[in-house]
Amino acid sequence: MNLFRYFKPWEKSFVDALSYACAYKKEAAYVTAVALEKRPDEIVVWLAANQGVEPAVVNFVNNTLIIVQWLAANPSAHLRNEDGKATLRLLTEQVLRFNSPKIKAYYGQIMNLAAPAVMGKLSGKEYEGDSEIVIFKQWLSENLQKNGVQLQEADMVNLASKCHDSRHIFGVLRRLAIESHDPPTFERLFKLLGKLGKHVVMCKRIVEATRVLRSDFARGMRVETVPGSRPVPMPFTPRKYNIRDISNRMFRDTTERDQFISRLRTIYNPDELDRLLAQEHLSGKTIVHAELLILDHFERTGGDFLNNADKYIGCSKPACYLCYQYICSHPGGYVRPPSHQKLYVKWRLPDIRENERNAATRLRNQDQILRRMIEFVRRDLKNDIANRVGKLKPHPDSTAGGTSTVFEIGTGLEASMGSLSFQELRQQFEPEPKPGISSASASSAQSRSSIITASSESDEAEYSSDGGVGI
Ligand SMILES: [Zn+2]
Repeated sequence: MNLFRYFKPWEKSFVDALSYACAYKKEAAYVTAVALEKRPDEIVVWLAANQGVEPAVVNFVNNTLIIVQWLAANPSAHLRNEDGKATLRLLTEQVLRFNSPKIKAYYGQIMNLAAPAVMGKLSGKEYEGDSEIVIFKQWLSENLQKNGVQLQEADMVNLASKCHDSRHIFGVLRRLAIESHDPPTFERLFKLLGKLGKHVVMCKRIVEATRVLRSDFARGMRVETVPGSRPVPMPFTPRKYNIRDISNRMFRDTTERDQFISRLRTIYNPDELDRLLAQEHLSGKTIVHAELLILDHFERTGGDFLNNADKYIGCSKPACYLCYQYICSHPGGYVRPPSHQKLYVKWRLPDIRENERNAATRLRNQDQILRRMIEFVRRDLKNDIANRVGKLKPHPDSTAGGTSTVFEIGTGLEASMGSLSFQELRQQFEPEPKPGISSASASSAQSRSSIITASSESDEAEYSSDGGVGI
């Protein structure tokens, strides 16, 4: 056994980095998943995005693979010699240029909110003698503007490189977060500055992973895409989409049901929740998230992963709560992905059509997965409501970061479950200081069943941000 390889999941590193580089805009539509299929004569790089992969992304990946394959064919090139460094520079410049729109979006968050908030806190005289802070403030003033004017998209390549090279200067924000009474203000800027330089790190990972995987990559690589899913209207009706009906379906035992509703009432106003459910969630359209498009593609085709003992699907964002549960519950033995555990209302299961390959097996697996997911969701909901402390707060004064969940679950898989729940409704009452809320849901593509969770504002805006509904 090659122990070095055992301890370094290079395939994971490669697809994570490549998927991150593919999602060149911050919007939810651009969330991209990547997996590697091993064929006898080549490696196929599979791409899927929440709303389909744009030709520009395919073109970008093709160009990236030219560099990757050159590295694979030239084992003497590595990060410590000139050939390797020059190749990394070429890759980095290409990735940064392609991702300028996303980097610019993070830059905008810094300029509009994060940096002014920190600078306001550091304007006091008590910080004047702190050399770390002086250097940090000077870095911001020298690099976040050009001649007193905000930077443009064309400046993002340079800015991202500088952020990466200067990351040691940003460490002072961590210290300030610990020392200050307002850690989130400093943490937010620290994270955003890290995101500006993150693509540079991803490029290094691509080069490092390519060196280890070169015997596979040198055989040839090709890009293929899995089509995006068709948006489908939410399958719920107002009659079933309310707290009372949801609770009825969730609890067979009426005492248990009444206890649940009674407990819920101490936390939320059920009438308000019913209103929000009807107002916010009945009109949306569901999609299949990118990582599940890839997973179902492999289930449909029976293709081999690069390493079938390590079936990993990389994604530009950590998996949402429902994708995570789906992947973990799948009998195919997929590697657990990182997850932010947030819920999105417009989630649905992969579509399965009768005449497709392996349709019967996939449907059977989905039923099994759904049953497991329902158990998980029900357990999480019960725990959440049972452990939540305090009354409904009428004022938006909480900074709690999304630990609330309210689910609803149907009980019969065969019938149309039409169930629903919602989650993070607390944020409707106690919005976070940052814009956007989030939400989630699940519904079966076949109207066979559904699991839903709920919530708020713009799903898409939230999906693409780091906000969202935590569990
Ligand atoms: Zn998802």
